Amino acid sequence: MDFQPLLDEIVHRLAPEAGREGAVARYIPALARIDPRHFGIALRTGAGEEATAGDGGVRFSIQSISKLFTLTLAMRHLSEDALWSRIGREPSGNPFNSLVQLESEHGKPRNPFINAGAIAVADRIVGLYGRDAKSELLAFMSHLAGEPIGFDPEVAASEAATGYRNYALANFMKSFGKLDHDVDTVLDFYFHQCALSMSALQLARAAGYLCRDGAHPCNPGEQVVTERQARRINALMLTCGTYDAAGDFAFHIGLPCKSGVGGGIVAVVPDRLTLAVWSPALDATGNSLLGTRALELFAQRTGLSIF
Ligand code: GLU
Repeated sequence: MDFQPLLDEIVHRLAPEAGREGAVARYIPALARIDPRHFGIALRTGAGEEATAGDGGVRFSIQSISKLFTLTLAMRHLSEDALWSRIGREPSGNPFNSLVQLESEHGKPRNPFINAGAIAVADRIVGLYGRDAKSELLAFMSHLAGEPIGFDPEVAASEAATGYRNYALANFMKSFGKLDHDVDTVLDFYFHQCALSMSALQLARAAGYLCRDGAHPCNPGEQVVTERQARRINALMLTCGTYDAAGDFAFHIGLPCKSGVGGGIVAVVPDRLTLAVWSPALDATGNSLLGTRALELFAQRTGLSIF
């Protein structure tokens, strides 16, 4: 199927509305000044066909979408026990940066896609690579995307300068003995992962293993993760990938998705394709407002769904 006409139509219908509703994330200047009129969409099929429309080639701050890739990196190298003894797999039902649940649950985050969970994953990655953790993440992302991927240094610095709540979460986990490494090192890695800068097309490519039973998006014969691990990552995306709107995403879109406050969303159609959208204005749940609409439209028009 040629998806290009559909992506063009989605851009034609939605791009004129970009910036009319919702609001860009304002907690750091680098995000607050992004023009809310950007709108991009891109996809890559399991067989390697690509389509992109609007600003699908413009890089943006992927923010929490990075949690998907750091989880993947951790799953590649750690035993199930080593990873899941410290992180749960249930939707949190609380804001992504909430401290409350973490206290009553003794420092064990509900899932790897809330901030506390991603910080716990970051701790594991620091344990794997030490000082090289950030460069290993860049190498992994570049290997997946098939071209060099970098951090936005301004975003990384602002994340650190304003990351009071993430410091609180990390210190809290440390106090429960649930972080092995020092808080500053773990958070330096976490702030940089949030600052990864990628386009929708690069994201659709990089996430390609999730629609290919774990096989590398373009290297024949290379498994990024096992088939079972890929299924599990998709399950976590569906149940926990879109803040407190995961139920609505499953209801309206029916695909595993992971979003970030930079306005990006990655969606997976298992065995078919990966799709990424970017529109910086967010709705009240912190998900890209038009990005969500674009995914709904795509799912309606193609009939693609996991259900
Ligand atoms: N840098 C943000 C934070 O850690 C990520 C937010 C997001 O995309 O969910 O609070």
